[in-house]
Amino acid sequence: MATISYLTTVQFGFGELKAVADGLAQFGISRPLIVTDRGLAATDLIGRLRAVSPVLGNAALFAETPTNPTEEAVLAALAVYREHDCDGLIAIGGGSPIDLAKGVALLAGHDGPLETYAAILGGIPKITAKVAPVIAIPTTAGTGSEVGRAALITLDDGRKLGFISPHLIPKLAICDPELTLGLPAWLTAATGMDAITHCIETYLSPRDNPVAEAIALDGLKRAVGHIERAVVDGSDREARKEMLMAALQGGLTFQKGLGAVHALSHPLGGLKQVSLHHGTLNAVLLPAVLRFNEPSAKGKYAEIRRTLGLSADADLAEWIAGLTARLGMPASLSAMGVPREVLPAIAEAAVKDHSSASNPRAASAADYETMLEESFG
Ligand SMILES: [Zn+2]
Repeated sequence: MATISYLTTVQFGFGELKAVADGLAQFGISRPLIVTDRGLAATDLIGRLRAVSPVLGNAALFAETPTNPTEEAVLAALAVYREHDCDGLIAIGGGSPIDLAKGVALLAGHDGPLETYAAILGGIPKITAKVAPVIAIPTTAGTGSEVGRAALITLDDGRKLGFISPHLIPKLAICDPELTLGLPAWLTAATGMDAITHCIETYLSPRDNPVAEAIALDGLKRAVGHIERAVVDGSDREARKEMLMAALQGGLTFQKGLGAVHALSHPLGGLKQVSLHHGTLNAVLLPAVLRFNEPSAKGKYAEIRRTLGLSADADLAEWIAGLTARLGMPASLSAMGVPREVLPAIAEAAVKDHSSASNPRAASAADYETMLEESFG
């Protein structure tokens, strides 16, 4: 059985930021809360957004999104939302502000605590159409959260959990490559590797959805064809456009489910003692996971090699490691500052992560620990 579902309207292209005005009218949002992070709030981007529509001119702003969104930040943003009697959200930034806005949209229409709605705690059917409308404007090319039905949020007790529902999909995604031109090289590489990981993991997921698989392979081809250009020259408009499309495509395929890379990077991203970038984690973990999964997905590995223009006997894990080295990314978890003693607990958490269920090869805590050790360096 295949469930194939595409729900988000996407406005894609240079200069499309202006489409937010029509989106506000279409979804009846007259008092939006703008959600972003401090880095972006310090640029002219929020001013450019405010200039698009009188509704945005003096709209409330929450700019305290942490690197990895937390329950605490969701509640702080929710307080601003309620204080200003808001009726919808504009999330502008990378995956974190978009996921944070989804958390606020959820609690704006549902009683807390947030934990009630976590996917692994049986929360999926509890999320209803009462979720407030979200317009997502990505400024990085990687997360795909602008068209995704999941929000990843770290609870107060340190668990990084997925909140998943079609109701959490933004009503409108505005993908304007212009907004990604200023992205620094390291973030272009890290978010781009997140997009590549999304395309690979969703393609390898055993869930039946040939439409999503075709999108995943197309996204993979665009991303590997343009990531190095976008990192070397951030002003390369064609490369920026292709990377934003690849990220969007990676997000459109989330409905197949992700895999072991994300099952590991979610708990690692929830560590309090060190702040780890999601995309960088995925890039570091991908080679070990590819080695582990190959026996269970040989036909698909052959298709990926063909898509990438590699020879039939090419080592895909080696090839990815070579790509991330050329992008100047760290090669190991130890180089990222992950303390070795957390690995067993991370392996235990990975088994319970919602992404583990759609990995092509069943992985135990011992398997996850082996993959972590291999990635540790
Ligand atoms: Zn991801």
